Amino acid sequence: MSQNDNLFKKIMRGEIPSSKVYEDDYVYAFNDISPTAPTHILIIPKAPLDSLNELTEDDAVTAGRLLVTAAKLAKQLGFAQDGYRCVINTGANAGQTVPHLHLHLLAGREFGWPAG
Ligand code: 5GP
Repeated sequence: MSQNDNLFKKIMRGEIPSSKVYEDDYVYAFNDISPTAPTHILIIPKAPLDSLNELTEDDAVTAGRLLVTAAKLAKQLGFAQDGYRCVINTGANAGQTVPHLHLHLLAGREFGWPAG
């Protein structure tokens, strides 16, 4: 699948509907279609990055914006104090299924550790 055709690119272009939570010049955030927590938001960069493996020094601002957005949404949506989890699955062993970098922002319940 080419970068232009991946699922999350289509969501960002509006070709596949999504429940948008936030958008700016760097990132797009939307609700996961199969939530694993009461809040399950995906935050993706607009830059064409397949996974964390693609990141270089030039992507430092983009990468930082993923975390800044997670922290901002946690405050805005009211779960910053109770706690939340950010996950970036990378590659087959981590269970990455969509080849576009994405951060899972999970909240609304307690999470176990170590991760399964
Ligand atoms: P991964 O397993 O790659 O870390 O996460 C991919 C996520 O994308 C999964 O949590 C999955 O539920 C979500 N997802 C897959 N297809 C769609 C879709 O069409 N719309 C939305 N909103 N989420 C999707």
